[in-house]
Amino acid sequence: MTTSSLESMSPEGKDLRLVCLVHYHEVGLKGRNRSSFERKLKENIEKRLSGISTGRVSRVSGRLLVAVESEEEAAAVAEAAASVPGVVRVSRGVRTAQRLEDVYAAALWALECCEPYETFKVDARRANTDFPIDSMQLNRVIGAWLCERLPQKTVRLREPDARLCVEMIEGSAFVYAQTSRGVGGLPVGTAGNVVCLLSAGLDSPVAAWRLMKRGATITALHFSGRPETADTSEHLVRDIIEVFRPLGGIERLCVVAFGGYQRELSDAVPPELRVIFYRRLMFAVANRVAERFRAKALATGESLGQVASQTLDNIRAVDAVATYPVLRPLIGTDKQEIIEEAQRLGTFAISSQNHEDCCTLFMPRSPETHAKLARVERISAQLPLEAWLEQILEDLEVEEFFS
Ligand code: ATP
Ligand code: MG
Repeated sequence: MTTSSLESMSPEGKDLRLVCLVHYHEVGLKGRNRSSFERKLKENIEKRLSGISTGRVSRVSGRLLVAVESEEEAAAVAEAAASVPGVVRVSRGVRTAQRLEDVYAAALWALECCEPYETFKVDARRANTDFPIDSMQLNRVIGAWLCERLPQKTVRLREPDARLCVEMIEGSAFVYAQTSRGVGGLPVGTAGNVVCLLSAGLDSPVAAWRLMKRGATITALHFSGRPETADTSEHLVRDIIEVFRPLGGIERLCVVAFGGYQRELSDAVPPELRVIFYRRLMFAVANRVAERFRAKALATGESLGQVASQTLDNIRAVDAVATYPVLRPLIGTDKQEIIEEAQRLGTFAISSQNHEDCCTLFMPRSPETHAKLARVERISAQLPLEAWLEQILEDLEVEEFFS
């Protein structure tokens, strides 16, 4: 159906405007935080829609409204808005005056958009009592009118093919029957900043996404094997960041040329403990980065027992270095689930490209799977860690994405 068919259904005097209604969870949006959450969500949606729609985003009674010009635009807006964290549903429909004959015309149009369908249900609501007919009566009168006009269709209250929603809000009627599911979560930028150790592997991009979905912004920290390896992983990390950029959640990327330090570490510590020491140094750097950018936590893509360095003993041996809470959003997630999520997000193909990860540099055949923290700490005390940290922080390559 096209806009012209909408116009043909809006006889003289009827004012039907195409809109997208963006619904968000009330959960987490209550109390004092509510208005700042709503403001952030509106801002994130406006950013996400730039280049897709010029329609204004406005607030109406616990929803956001995007005015659109055509059904094609409505479809594009709905798809983009549904991908913004904090959005639970997006509906495409029309806004009319609160007059029954306008609502009828809109309802007919909205249902026609759902073809083919056999059964339908009317779900009408008024937000307040400024409209004289209550919700129950509204359901009945609209339903009765539609039954008369659509004799070949049947009303079915449970699991209908099409659900026609009519909402009487702030002097307007919103009529829609097409609704798509949003990603849910909370608006990016409402939870504070997290330093996410971001490799070009499969897991950490998914971990970063999950944190953004819960409202965090990300300082991405990448360790490159440079100069011992090529800089391929850095390019892949940038490609991953590009996938997330439209969400507005990646604040900056920090890259550490880590290869030289890994060489020094591999000379100084027992071969089976190399990975543990690489990772302890990574965490020590992450602490400093968090301090510099006022982040509130660190995060990794670790999943319990997935590889040698992710046993509980090894996690403990590494975690001991952290001075911030370490978030591990994937700790209980299986590889297959992570792969499916990465595919949905669009990072899978990037992470699947061949690259050398710095963690695999100078790896012994059998790394320690149950490191003893006391032994690790003893060896650690012999290393010039403070001097390395100073140097790494001085050489840190920082790219800001919005300031
Ligand atoms: P990923 O797929 O995220 O690389 P992985 O399964 O390869 O994870 P590890 O290599 O043990 O597991 O890494 C565990 C976590 O450590 C990663 O999820 C990431 O958060 C961090 N990490 C590993 N390598 C790097 C790196 N080169 N730069 C930044 N962070 C890293
Ligand atoms: Mg990896």
